[in-house]
Amino acid sequence: MEAAPEPGPVLRLRHCGAAIFCRRPPPLCPACGRPLRGAGLAAAPVRLPCPFRHGHRQRRALLLRPAAGSFLGGYDGGADLHVGITNGDGVVYNYDEEGIHRDETGWEQCISVPLVQPDMFELLQQWDKLLEEFSVGEAWLPHRYEEHDYNCYTYALAFINSILTAQGKQQMSKSEFTEKFVIPQTKNASKYITLHQELTTKDFYIVPLPDQENQGGN
Ligand SMILES: [Zn+2]
Repeated sequence: MEAAPEPGPVLRLRHCGAAIFCRRPPPLCPACGRPLRGAGLAAAPVRLPCPFRHGHRQRRALLLRPAAGSFLGGYDGGADLHVGITNGDGVVYNYDEEGIHRDETGWEQCISVPLVQPDMFELLQQWDKLLEEFSVGEAWLPHRYEEHDYNCYTYALAFINSILTAQGKQQMSKSEFTEKFVIPQTKNASKYITLHQELTTKDFYIVPLPDQENQGGN
């Protein structure tokens, strides 16, 4: 896989009833042409938080990335996602038709969902051992893989459920897993991807604001 290009930050400012997205703050408002200097706090550019993380720097997290390519390198929102789980050193355990992989590269631009709270001391200590033991099971031999019914999600969910069970908690169904771990994150990311793509071909992306956001003059 090619390394994802490192794009500049996306900035947002507000002026004349529009949200203006750009990479570099302009001197004049691209919507009305008036100077932005002295136009108030709303006209000051704010850097939007990037929803993507370097996956190998995330410990004990669920990672999502496009099965092919990268989020900011042409992902169209409809392509399949691949998921994995990191150990305490950022090694990504993931399952596909070749069986279990322990990736040390390739997950540089991911959505990351932390799985362990900092106060779960016992789990923090046991995580790597639990993940390794779970992953060497016969359940994850290559021949068991099926693209739609027994895949990377099956593996990640089964591991998370094994942890929940060990903690005396209720297991998650596949739809709960998707609703809790996948949909909110991908929704948020897709907004950012849209802005990123718009700003690849133009300097500004201008969105009219609904009326109530216009008032108050902040
Ligand atoms: Zn303006």
